[in-house]
Amino acid sequence: MLDTSPFEEPAERHDLRSMVQALLGRHLPQDRALQIDREGIFDRDVWQALGEAGVLGLGADEEAGGSGGTVGDALAVTEEIARVLPSLAVDYVTCGMAMRMLADANAGAAAAQLPDIASGRTVCAFGMSEPGVGTDLLSLRTTAREQDGQWVLNGQKTWISLGQEADVIFVVARTDAVQDGRKGRGLSIIAVPTDQPGVTTRRVHLGGMRAAITCEVFLDDAVAPLDHLVGTRGRAMSILGQTLDVERVLAAGISLGIGRAALDLHVQYAGEREAFGAPIGALQAVQHPAADSIAELTAARALVNTTVRMIEAGRSASEMSAMCKLTAGESTARIVDRGMRAMGAMGLAEESAMQMYFRDARLQLFSPVSNEMIRNILGEALGLPRSY
Ligand SMILES: Cc1cc2nc3c(=O)[nH]c(=O)nc-3n(C[C@H](O)[C@H](O)[C@H](O)COP(=O)(O)OP(=O)(O)OC[C@H]3O[C@@H](n4cnc5c(N)ncnc54)[C@H](O)[C@@H]3O)c2cc1C
Repeated sequence: MLDTSPFEEPAERHDLRSMVQALLGRHLPQDRALQIDREGIFDRDVWQALGEAGVLGLGADEEAGGSGGTVGDALAVTEEIARVLPSLAVDYVTCGMAMRMLADANAGAAAAQLPDIASGRTVCAFGMSEPGVGTDLLSLRTTAREQDGQWVLNGQKTWISLGQEADVIFVVARTDAVQDGRKGRGLSIIAVPTDQPGVTTRRVHLGGMRAAITCEVFLDDAVAPLDHLVGTRGRAMSILGQTLDVERVLAAGISLGIGRAALDLHVQYAGEREAFGAPIGALQAVQHPAADSIAELTAARALVNTTVRMIEAGRSASEMSAMCKLTAGESTARIVDRGMRAMGAMGLAEESAMQMYFRDARLQLFSPVSNEMIRNILGEALGLPRSY
């Protein structure tokens, strides 16, 4: 098979990929991955194994309790997980964002949780989206007020990955009024422990990304210690802004992982399945879509690699990160569609991973930020009027 792996990948990163592949091979053989997807479960043993291998702690310095590493390392791990079980990669990216936030944001007592999150002992979730608020996230309605020496939170979050499994949820809530019409001001991030009556969850069963364990979270006078504020009060958006570019690159990594796995399966099946006395891969109708897929995947990968190098060099890469998320997500949606067509009925069979890749690739079009909003951002960066 044509090798499109990044030729400049450092030896240590190559070793990291191999280690993660071996770990996933032991813990998540394909039958098990498909079972987890079918049943929509979170396998704590796999999570723990990822923690013990040091990959959950990537993105936070070792002194802070993380495993160090660069965005390129986290990207490589994200891709490898997504190739096997894309919805677990969603959980992985969520955990990585928490790591970065806690490490970057002078996170006070909340940062004490970092080593346990990195080891997999503590599971965390990130609560931003609400029933009426997705793309328009600055309109969120959950509140947190100071009362009797603690935070008291009220509101509802939805689509929260690992909501039901989490020991702590990083909740974005309004602590202060909108200032000067700037809705981004006055939002804060608070680490809310889940083992209290004020926090309840309800599982939302989805047609894709099932092992992400997506939940509604209800906060009814939920409490958190005052020093569980992450970073500066009222400045959630500037804290998140620091991690947003990385999140978009890692989201692109999920797309690259799904795309690669779907293309591998497309090619394998095309070589094995026969029709009219020859492998269907001999038919241009099956072969050319695979060729388009490898070309698109390689182009997306090149964009992502360039962006990773910019971020690692400390350069601003907001528009590039946005382009990574858009390009990889849209390419992968096409790649899984081509794979499904090549496999006919077998693509839809539960025992085939293609149906999982097909369903899971849908998320890559609208989360963590919708591709339409990415286009808005890029349009504005091109100097066109803001469209929303
Ligand atoms: C599996 C899964 C896991 C998730 N995990 C989390 C999590 O852990 N934490 C969390 O906080 N959230 C999570 N989410 C939510 C995710 O971040 C949202 O789905 C995403 O932000 C989009 O919001 P929405 O789905 O409400 O879409 P909406 O905002 O309702 O948008 C619907 C459509 O309208 C379009 N649209 C809206 N506004 C504009 C505009 N101005 N210009 C152009 N088009 C526009 C969108 O592009 C989209 O096509 C998860 C979602 C899923 C499915």
